[in-house]
Amino acid sequence: MGWLARLKKMLSGVEGDRELLRAQLHAFSRQIPLLYFILLVNTAAVAATHLSSAPPWLSMYVPGTLGVLCLYRCVRWWRARNRTLTAAQAEREMRSLTWIVSLFGIAFSTWSVLLFPYGTAYQQAQVAFYMATTLVGSVFCLIHLRVPAMLLLCIVILSFAGFLASSGSPVFFAMAIDMTLVGVALAVVIQIYWRTFADAINAQRELQASQQNTQSLSDDNYRLANLDSLTGLPNRRSFFSSLRAISEQALETGGGFNVGLIDLDGFKQVNDIYGHASGDLVLQEVGTRLLSISETGLMFARLGGDEFGAIVRHRLSNEALVELGQRICDALSRPYQVADNVAELSGTIGWAAFPEAGSTVAQVFERADAALYVGKENRRGMPVIFSTEHETRMRRLSLVTQELRHADLEAELFLEFQPIYDLLTRRPIGLEALGRWHNARLGMVRPEEFIRIAERTELILGITDVLLRQALAEVAQWPADLYLSFNLSAIDISTSARARRLIDIVEASGVSPHRVTFEITETALTRDFEQAHSAMTMLKQAGCRMSLDDFGTGYSSLSYVHRLPFDAIKIDRSFVSDVDTNSASKKIIKSVIDLCRNLGLECVVEGLETPLQAQVVKALGARAVQGYLFSLPMRASAVGTFLWTALAQSHAVETQP
Ligand code: C2E
Ligand code: MG
Ligand code: MG
Repeated sequence: MGWLARLKKMLSGVEGDRELLRAQLHAFSRQIPLLYFILLVNTAAVAATHLSSAPPWLSMYVPGTLGVLCLYRCVRWWRARNRTLTAAQAEREMRSLTWIVSLFGIAFSTWSVLLFPYGTAYQQAQVAFYMATTLVGSVFCLIHLRVPAMLLLCIVILSFAGFLASSGSPVFFAMAIDMTLVGVALAVVIQIYWRTFADAINAQRELQASQQNTQSLSDDNYRLANLDSLTGLPNRRSFFSSLRAISEQALETGGGFNVGLIDLDGFKQVNDIYGHASGDLVLQEVGTRLLSISETGLMFARLGGDEFGAIVRHRLSNEALVELGQRICDALSRPYQVADNVAELSGTIGWAAFPEAGSTVAQVFERADAALYVGKENRRGMPVIFSTEHETRMRRLSLVTQELRHADLEAELFLEFQPIYDLLTRRPIGLEALGRWHNARLGMVRPEEFIRIAERTELILGITDVLLRQALAEVAQWPADLYLSFNLSAIDISTSARARRLIDIVEASGVSPHRVTFEITETALTRDFEQAHSAMTMLKQAGCRMSLDDFGTGYSSLSYVHRLPFDAIKIDRSFVSDVDTNSASKKIIKSVIDLCRNLGLECVVEGLETPLQAQVVKALGARAVQGYLFSLPMRASAVGTFLWTALAQSHAVETQP
């Protein structure tokens, strides 16, 4: 850059960065009224005392014009005082200010010099005083604008002090020297002030940057503490703190709100079959789908795993809640694209309303959980609203849990056996052991009920041990070609130690492990696939057989069959109940029978109740069957007579001519 360009840049008044420029203009804009006040009042005073001594153009028109210009600038400032300037506008403003200050300096100095000769010595002293005070006042008002302030100093000192010095009067000469010295002092003050001002602006800027940094760190912390990093939804902690805030507000205003708990059905299988990365994608997609559901006052959160929470911040009628719940379930049950596959999942939601279902956050949450529990058992993929019926169920649940905890398992548990038949030979080939519990207070408790409760509390481990020992004691008395089918729970195959214990019980009984088939339901496999796989492998290696129970009631069954070492599949009775009327059930049974044949697995058709059903499944290729048609589950004491009769009958059939 040449010196001319440098000078031009310097004289433009634009120094430092845009931040500093804005701060300068902002600080200056507050002084503008004062600046023009000084100029107007001082100029008017001088003009007034020269009215009679100076020509009108000099005592009236010139100061009048300068005054009008000052007023015009003042009005302009007033109009634009709240305007926020862009960087370019600020630069332009600074340039024009530098020009205006310089021109005003020249104009007022010239006027004073021209006016000077027209008065008495007093009037001349007044003009010199006017120039000195106005200069000091103006420079202080311009103190934030270093270049314009310096320019003004130079212009006035050079012109007016120069004029005084050349007047030939020793008094005026002394005044000129005085003015010049004051000017130099003012220049030093301007320079020092400018440095301080620029440093303060820089420090302020650094402070702001560090505050911004702190704010963004604290925002990050807030996000981490309150958002689920996978789905971007609020997390469990944030869900509960929102719930607490909403409930406090509802208590104050007498309002209400609703809490929903959502659980995905089939998510575990996606994780097991396609891997955790795919599971994550599904959860992300779930988050996106939930967020796409629009409803005023509705918020979602991920509570952990495949469990999500919903809050509706106001009261909703039951119909509206069901309708909203259905929309949520529908959104979740659309197919998911996972890598190159399509996964089918569904979501169940349990709702509870405040204050109807509970008067505290914990109660409402618990009841939404109870509604979800009921939903998962009976109405998967649908919304369920907490009702008194659920309350009764919860009471029953805690009662049964309590009794089960204190039960004398050896004395209260017993078994019934239900035969498994071969349709061709019409002979029993095995018996399934079905657990029964008689409690003094509760009477007979259905296995579906107490087993499920026991599974929730790990009491199942003791139950399995007792029942397995009882069952094996019976097997020892059956003909050697009959096998025992024994139901296991998920938790029974959840560790290798547990599998080892089952093997020990079998070995201790003296019954050949080949006569023992362990039944596992699909849902039992959804807990921890790898662990289930290794426990099953251990049981198989010990010589026991494995059977997949209630086939067709869960998800992705075929992939399980394929990946786990099963020997048999039991087709769930829900397919059998309408096999004689429903062609879809018929096709399913047929394809499972064919699949078993291809894979070399035994296939047991469960729940046959009518001769027609038996006829149909036989025509479809079934051999092993089980159901009330052949025999109800019976007490252990009745098995001996039953077997004797059954074997005798089949023998009679075989030996008929
Ligand atoms: P499951 O293993 O599928 O057992 C078959 C169930 O179907 C039995 O019910 C049996 O009585 C019933 N059943 C058999 N034939 C028919 C029929 O023709 N029609 C109808 N409607 N039902 C039939 P139960 O004894 O009530 O057992 C229910 C479930 O409880 C069992 O289903 C099994 O999953 C579980 N369970 C029973 N005992 C035990 C046990 O000792 N341990 C474990 N972990 N679970 C058990
Ligand atoms: Mg079974
Ligand atoms: Mg079954």
